[in-house]
Amino acid sequence: MKHKFYLLFLAAFMLLGLQCTAMAAAQTAKPNIVILATGGTIAGSAASDTATTGYKAGALGIDQLINAVPEIKNYANITGEQICSIDSKDMTNDIWIKLADRVNALLAKPNVDGVVITHGTDTLEETAFFLNLVVNSNKPVVMVGAMRPATAISADGPMNLLDAVRVAADKAAFGKGVLVVMNDEINGARDVTKTNTTNVATFKSPGFGVLGYINGGVPEFYQQSLRRHTVNSEFRGEHLTSLPDVKVVYGTANDDSLFIDAAIKAGVKGIVYAGTGNGSIHKNAEKALAKASAQGIVVVRCSRVGSGAVVPAEASYAKEHFIDSDTLNPQKARILLQLALTKTHNLSAIQKMFKEY
Ligand code: ASP
Repeated sequence: MKHKFYLLFLAAFMLLGLQCTAMAAAQTAKPNIVILATGGTIAGSAASDTATTGYKAGALGIDQLINAVPEIKNYANITGEQICSIDSKDMTNDIWIKLADRVNALLAKPNVDGVVITHGTDTLEETAFFLNLVVNSNKPVVMVGAMRPATAISADGPMNLLDAVRVAADKAAFGKGVLVVMNDEINGARDVTKTNTTNVATFKSPGFGVLGYINGGVPEFYQQSLRRHTVNSEFRGEHLTSLPDVKVVYGTANDDSLFIDAAIKAGVKGIVYAGTGNGSIHKNAEKALAKASAQGIVVVRCSRVGSGAVVPAEASYAKEHFIDSDTLNPQKARILLQLALTKTHNLSAIQKMFKEY
């Protein structure tokens, strides 16, 4: 009897020990991060180590990117996939849809904790905003690029990639929407934009500022966007097969209706007018936009200024049913309008989206 009791006690003790070890392992286990590579300068290769222009973007594959920064494995268990190998100036709707589907499929898996996307800087802000609206997960999605090719002296890509993994592996990055990590800074997808053609400190969020920094190798968040994104977006998890055609027309002095007339003729579903100042429209262009609006093409007033909100102005704009873009820049207003048009053509519903996203 005494012997039996002793055996029972021993079994219970061993079970408890096993449970504690499993709990401790779970607590110290590194997160599983998938890196999706799309090309860009971060994977760029030049003929010489002093060349920072005239190189081939997207020349290196995902394995070369991962192997160049072995330190990322200190922060996460890393796997990689090549989505495409392009210069991001050539980004397409089809690649966006493929990328969004893959990110959603990966993040739905319990054994994937976050995704890092390597991307060219030219359209990085557009892909980031698109994903910000269609990703159906709270888990971190971090986009990263570089301004200098991988072959350059003092290439910025390796440190940016390390920082992107550090952020994706950080619990604080949960629920912040799609993030852009470059040059020691964390910006949010909605407000970030490329502001310098060649400088490594190119990504800024004009009028809003960064969400956080990588301080001495440690991600720190200081603020977050209040606008709808990811799990709070009505576009989340949509399996899209195409996107409506929306064009941006850039307003200038001496403007005319040439491009607007062409867009109407081509059958576009929406026009974003990058106006002067507070979304002001040249009188020659306004006539053509009013015609477009009367034909059911949705017209969004935006600004070429680079910061500040576009708010109601001339009485005629309201009469002509133009939408105000709020603080979205033209290239991002285009994306929101594309997604909006997959749901509705109701103008007040679309205007409401521009206030919420
Ligand atoms: N043209 C390149 C790209 O967007 C520029 C870069 O990545 O910095 O792919």
